[in-house]
Amino acid sequence: MDIMTGLSAISEALKITNKLRELDKKFDKSEFKMQISDLYMALSDAKIALADAKLELSKKDVEIDKLKSVHDSKMRTSKYKGYNFGIDESGHSIGRPFCPVCEKTKDIQIQLTRTIITGTDQCPSCKAAYSGYPWQLPPDYLETSE
Ligand SMILES: [Zn+2]
Repeated sequence: MDIMTGLSAISEALKITNKLRELDKKFDKSEFKMQISDLYMALSDAKIALADAKLELSKKDVEIDKLKSVHDSKMRTSKYKGYNFGIDESGHSIGRPFCPVCEKTKDIQIQLTRTIITGTDQCPSCKAAYSGYPWQLPPDYLETSE
């Protein structure tokens, strides 16, 4: 159940309440009892639906907090020739760019490193090899991507 189900059940309960007001004028005890029973059922459905919706909302809050935490833990970057270069708190480049594959597929920032054996650069996470890419920002490059 969800919020729409809860709202629908509340609408039904309001309709029943209106019928009960009508009954008050031409009092019929058995009809009154039946309407009270229907009202109780409609309100029970609404309560269950809204409790489910509350649970769903709290799950979403947890997910939003998790995503905010991931976003806040990311380093500010400067994009240059398709690569994101990490920028430290004093506004300076940290050196080699982040692996574009890992940024795109895993949403994480992994800085490329030089491999001693091959002399090329590699992502320590996905092991993708990089050569012929801009391995550093030009000295006075200042465009920020975020
Ligand atoms: Zn990678």
